[in-house]
Parts: sequence; C-alpha cells; structure tokens
Amino acid sequence: MKIINPATEELIKEVQEDSQKSVLQKYADLKNGQIKWADISLDERLACIQKFYEMLDSEKDHLAKILSLEVGKPLSQAHNELKGARTRIKFFLENSEKWLTEEWMVTEGGTKEKITYEPLGVITNISAWNYPYLVGVNVFIPALIGGNAVLYKPSEYSTLTGLEIEKLLHKSGVPSDVFKAVPGAREVGQSLLELPLDGYFFTGSFKTGLAIAQKVASKLVPFQMELGGKDPVYIMDDIADIKSTAAGIADGAFYNNGQSCCSVERIYVHSTIYDQFVKEFTEEVKSYKIGNPLEEGVYIGPLTRKDQLEVLSSQIKDALDKGAKLLCGGNKMNSKGYYFEPAVLVNVNHTMSIMKDESFGPVIGIQKVSNDEEALRLMNDTEYGLTAAVYSKDKARADKILKKLNTGSVYWNCCDRVSPYLPWSGRKNSGLGATLSYIGIRAFVHPKGYHLRG
Ligand code: NAD
Repeated sequence: MKIINPATEELIKEVQEDSQKSVLQKYADLKNGQIKWADISLDERLACIQKFYEMLDSEKDHLAKILSLEVGKPLSQAHNELKGARTRIKFFLENSEKWLTEEWMVTEGGTKEKITYEPLGVITNISAWNYPYLVGVNVFIPALIGGNAVLYKPSEYSTLTGLEIEKLLHKSGVPSDVFKAVPGAREVGQSLLELPLDGYFFTGSFKTGLAIAQKVASKLVPFQMELGGKDPVYIMDDIADIKSTAAGIADGAFYNNGQSCCSVERIYVHSTIYDQFVKEFTEEVKSYKIGNPLEEGVYIGPLTRKDQLEVLSSQIKDALDKGAKLLCGGNKMNSKGYYFEPAVLVNVNHTMSIMKDESFGPVIGIQKVSNDEEALRLMNDTEYGLTAAVYSKDKARADKILKKLNTGSVYWNCCDRVSPYLPWSGRKNSGLGATLSYIGIRAFVHPKGYHLRG
C-alpha cells in the first residue's frame, strides 16, 4: 500500500497490507491473548493505559509530524489532536473503575443480587482518518480497559499513525496478542466482517456504516456506528458581537479543513443581522493562511482524499446552477497537492446538495431565515443527526430550539466540540450507539446479573 503525502503527492512510504490469511492469524492470537488480559486486574490494565497516556506526550513531536504528513493536517492542529486524545484518555483513567466495578443491588434477605461487567471478547475497531487519535481512543481505550482484545483497522489514509498507535500501546505494556493493527483498505475491512468477532465498532461514512451494519446484524453481537453529519448552526438576532461570533463559527466550519464529523456544515442567520454576519464571516475565511501543513501559521492544508476535490466542486456547481452566489474560494488550486480554496456560498436553499449532503471539506452555505420556527424546521430537515448549535443571548429562547433538535449533541453559543464527559452519539444517518462518558465505558462490557442464594 502506497502512503501518499496529500500536500505534495509524493510517496512517503510503502506498507505491507494485511491479507485474509494474516488477518485470521491475528484474530487467533487475540483470541488467546484476550483471556489472559481479562484475567489481570483492572488496575494493571489501567497502568498500561497510563503509560500510553504519558508516551503520547513524550513522543508528541514525532507523532504530530507523521499525522500531519499523511493526512495533511496543519502541524498545530495535529498537536491539538494529541492533546485532545490525552484529555479523553485521562477521563477513562479516572472514571473506568467507578463504572466497571461490581455493584451490589440487593444485600438483605435470602437472595443477594449483584451486577458485574464482563468484557465482550475480541472486538474490531474500523476507523476513520480525519482524527485518527481522537476517534480511535473513543473505542480502543475503553475496550482495552474493559478487558477486550482489539483488532484495530486504521483508515488507509492514516496507516502510519495507526502503526504508531500499535507500537506505543505495546511499549506501554499492552501485550502484542491483545492489540493488533490491521493495515489495509476496504478489502481488509471486509475481511474483518467475516470473522466471528464479539463486537464491531465503526467510525466512518454513512454509506460504509450501513453496509457494515447490514453485514454484521445477523451475528447478534454488539455493533456501534459513528457516522457523518450535516451539522447546522442558527444565529439569532440578539447576538451583540457579530464579528467574534462569525469568527468562532467559521473556525467550527473550517478547522481541520472542514473534515470533522461535527464540522459546521450549514448556517442559518436571522434576517436582521444577516448582511453583517455574512460580511464578517467571509472576511474571516479570506484571512486564512493556506499552505503546506508543516509551515508555521498555516490554517488550511490540503484535503486528505483526492476524490473529495470532485465532491466539493460538484456541490458548488450544483448550488451555482440553482442560483447560489459564491463569495470566495471554491476552486481546486493549481499547485501540487489536494488543495481547495475555502468557499462561502449565499442565496442557498434546501434544493441544493450543499445544504443537504455531507460536504466534509472547506465549503459552507449561509441561508437567511425570518424567525426561530423557520430555523428549527430547516435545521431538522436532514437525514443526519449528529450536532446542532444555537447562538443567542437569551438562554430560554435558545433552549426552546435545543430541546426540539433531533441530534445526539446540542450546543448553545459554541459548536464543533466533543467532551469526554458527555455521550458522543448520532441519530438517524449519523450513527447508532454512543462512545465517551460512562455510556462509552459500559459500551464495551456485558452486564451480568448474579442471583445468590445461601
Ligand atoms: P469511510 O467510510 O470511507 O471509511 C472508514 C473505514 O472503513 C476505513 O478504515 C475504510 O478502510 C473502512 N471500510 C471502507 N469500506 C469498508 C467495507 N465495505 N467494509 C469494512 N470496512 C470498510 O470513511 P472515511 O472517509 O474514513 O471517514 C470520513 C467519514 O467518517 C465522514 O462521513 C465523517 O463524518 C465520519 N466520521 C464520523 C465520526 C463520528 O464520530 N460520528 C468521526 C469521524 C469521522
């Protein structure tokens, strides 16, 4: 498998993909390893994860550079990702004992009752490239802490990072027959679905997620899906500082080149502040420095996937054909690498793909609305349901909308954020099940009820 630098289109390295045979061997090893891993104490497993947490910091310069090279993420954002991953791991280190320790429910009378939590067994984590550390640790860290073995398939676009994760986990004391990376593309992912695994945990697109869900549903083992989004933001008319609000929302839309599952992908603005908002927003976007992700101060690097250039161009063409107006950007850049100028579109509506289909790139549509009811209707007019945000001075007014949004997360005066303390979940085409929070700790264990008489 050729690992290509999206900023230069040059070869970084060639990596041996797994074959069906090697995947089977890895599974057999994990099957043995998991039993021993589940037998050691929770404290011992936590001690390994603590070491991994420390090494993510001591190795951060090396890890950030690899991440930046293979996915095109600006170096400062690669460092931010590592920092964010450590925050999540810290949450798991501090909270797992509480949620995995047996609970006595009935201690009086002839029959005592308790709940214990047992690992699922050998699970797979089929992962995405946009935040390989963040979306990875949501799954493999609580899975390992809970006593599972993990067959980890990094995305083919973040293979080197996946292999670094494997190396560091092993150095941290997680045995090599408890965590194994399986480098490869779609075919390798498909071969994992043929295995009799005890859980399937997927992060990626709706299309792939649906195919995986259909394939594994008949196995009747747990499976979870963290999928795409078309996340809206609504800005009410009572916002005082339009400039800083616009800058914050632009960051929510364009950070990581818009390649975040919870990137802002649609903006609705109350008509009374619409013109000023659009002006401030567009000025902010025009100020972004585009360039090589390793260069100081660069905010927009190349897209990670070449095929995404076509997706964005065709969404923009569709919008323009239907009457939208482009205020900036919107073109592939001529230089080498998968660069796309950040684009802002107005005069958009819901007949256009740009307001309905996931873009997953540096493009955004801004639509004018006349009241809160219209905003709410448009925000919910989507097949996705990951996050949605409302900006207003008035919490009670915002709350009326937040309660009615059909999404896994809602934000008031903020956007594009994930907290380890809260469940991360999508509704409709954005996913099934939740990671993070106590729910994301319990997602990797089976509860067992004990009825004890005598
Ligand atoms: P993708 O669906 O193309 O690939 C995801 C993973 O699935 C990769 O490892 C890939 O090799 C593997 N795969 C592809 N086809 C497969 C098949 N038929 N069987 C088994 N495995 C298969 O997605 P991507 O481009 O890596 O990621 C981008 C998508 O992920 C976006 O839609 C984004 O919104 C979503 N995402 C969601 C979250 C979330 O938390 N909800 C987080 C990150 C990314």
